[in-house]
Amino acid sequence: MGMFDTFYGKYTCEHCGKTVEFEEQTKDFKNCLLDFKLGDYVDLGDKNYFYNFTYECPECHAVTELSIGIRNGQYVGVFLAENARNMDPKELENIENGLQRRIEYDKMCEEKLGLEEAEGMHDELIALKVGDILKVLRTAWMILEVYYVKYPEGKRSLLCHPTIIYRAEADSVNRVIEVSINPFTRKLYYHVCKDNLEPLSSEECYKDFDINRCSIEPDSILEKLPEGGSIWNAEEDLEKIEKISSERCNSFSDNCRAIVGHDYGAAVWMRPVIIEDGEKIMSSNVHEVGMEISVDSSFFNDVLLDGFMKFFDPELDVNKKRFTRAFSDGGRFLTGFEREILEQNFFTYESIKEIIKYFEDIASSNEAGKLEIAEMIKVIELLKTMMKCFPEAKYISVMS
Ligand SMILES: [Zn+2]
Repeated sequence: MGMFDTFYGKYTCEHCGKTVEFEEQTKDFKNCLLDFKLGDYVDLGDKNYFYNFTYECPECHAVTELSIGIRNGQYVGVFLAENARNMDPKELENIENGLQRRIEYDKMCEEKLGLEEAEGMHDELIALKVGDILKVLRTAWMILEVYYVKYPEGKRSLLCHPTIIYRAEADSVNRVIEVSINPFTRKLYYHVCKDNLEPLSSEECYKDFDINRCSIEPDSILEKLPEGGSIWNAEEDLEKIEKISSERCNSFSDNCRAIVGHDYGAAVWMRPVIIEDGEKIMSSNVHEVGMEISVDSSFFNDVLLDGFMKFFDPELDVNKKRFTRAFSDGGRFLTGFEREILEQNFFTYESIKEIIKYFEDIASSNEAGKLEIAEMIKVIELLKTMMKCFPEAKYISVMS
């Protein structure tokens, strides 16, 4: 799976007359899994153009050529391509910023069902208590029951976000409100759904997200918390991660060649980074964001090195500008994939995806031992998670 952005919108199928809601994946923009809806600014520049694509009607399978009009960087409309060809994008009119999102939000408020993102970043998640009022979707909800979600021990702990569940009531409407925080981005989300506390079944987990349904993971336990209180805070979380990391110093074994966190032993470390551009790139210009994975050195050299070398691009700007003072000279630029000294090798997300593809091909053939394959798949999954959780980073640094 490569990264992309998605245009959402609708058009009328000329063949069968149905209104088609399309999702057009594009690689022309930031490839950050952004959603573009009518009224969104998709380009930071002041550009005017048509974005052209074809779409197949899910009803009658007729293929229609469509053009999305971009005016001053804003997604302002969907047109049939044949009409757009005779139009000047400079003559399109700008519309309300975030029009489609505002319409969707109005509808969610009216139906008292839907998602809302809290503003800003949050360092803690505190549960309200029974009788308190919570304002979500322009409604003041009276809290009737408070729970926090206990995930099964050790299960998908990386992807399970700390969550509070309320049973709440407003204007004689009963709802379940899920409040969760993404510990990496510190963003807080509300999900108001129908009054049903049944965790998802494992089949439902793989279906499309249902806005009406609470999204409690299978096997989770809801623990009653009538008095409310703090269920997560960033500082404790960090301490926990550091504790796990230090406990896992030299944690590799024959069955475990890759871990999340920092292994202080003979390891190769991979992490998403944001790089400050300049004439020289030194470690002070490289900012680590989010999770790190450590891979046992000998496993990396024997099994993974080949794939990483194959897709390492020494001509990539940020690789060419790497500057080291590790030698007893005045400092020098690095030229290749560096393994001898403690310096970083940069990979774009695109090249990491190539590496993943390369390893997936190996994993599906019989060229490696069973154990190697299991650990290789683990590294693949961790790299995918990294890119998904930290779209802002753009590079992964590999250092041994
Ligand atoms: Zn049709």
